[in-house]
Amino acid sequence: MHYYTFTVINNDEAVSKIKIETDKLIKVYNEEIKNYHKYCKNLPKDAPRHTEYKNLVRLKKILSETETDIDFGEKDQYISSFSIKVIMHNEFHSIFCSKCRTEYFPNEITYKTWSQGESLFASGGKTLVCNEDHFVFGYMEWNS
Ligand SMILES: [Zn+2]
Repeated sequence: MHYYTFTVINNDEAVSKIKIETDKLIKVYNEEIKNYHKYCKNLPKDAPRHTEYKNLVRLKKILSETETDIDFGEKDQYISSFSIKVIMHNEFHSIFCSKCRTEYFPNEITYKTWSQGESLFASGGKTLVCNEDHFVFGYMEWNS
C-alpha cells in the first residue's frame, strides 16, 4: 500500500501536510472519470471539464503505477481539491501540523462547522484543527 501527501497553504503559509492512501484518491478519480464519460464526452477540446478530465487521467496513472509514496507538494490543484472528498469522510491517514511538528490521526482532528453570509450569498463548510486548535485544513460544503 502506498500513500501520497500534499501541502496545505493558508495565507501563504504551509500549515500542514495531509497523508492519504493512493487507493482512496483513485476511487474518487474513477467516479469522476465515469461521470465525464457519461455527460461530457462531446464537449469542445478546450472546455475546462476536458482539461480537468485529462489531468485526472494523468494523475490516476501516476497514483496507480507508483512503487513508492509520492509527495505532490503544494502545486497540484487536482490533488488537493479532489482529496476533499476523502477528507470529508474522515478517511485520510494522518495530518502533520506544521505548528506542532506532530502527526495527527483522524480521531485526533476536530471538524468545526462554519458558515458566513446570508440568503443568496451564504456559504458553509468545515474547518479542521489539530489537538492544539491549529488550522490544518478547510473546505466549503455548500453555497447558495
Ligand atoms: Zn498543531
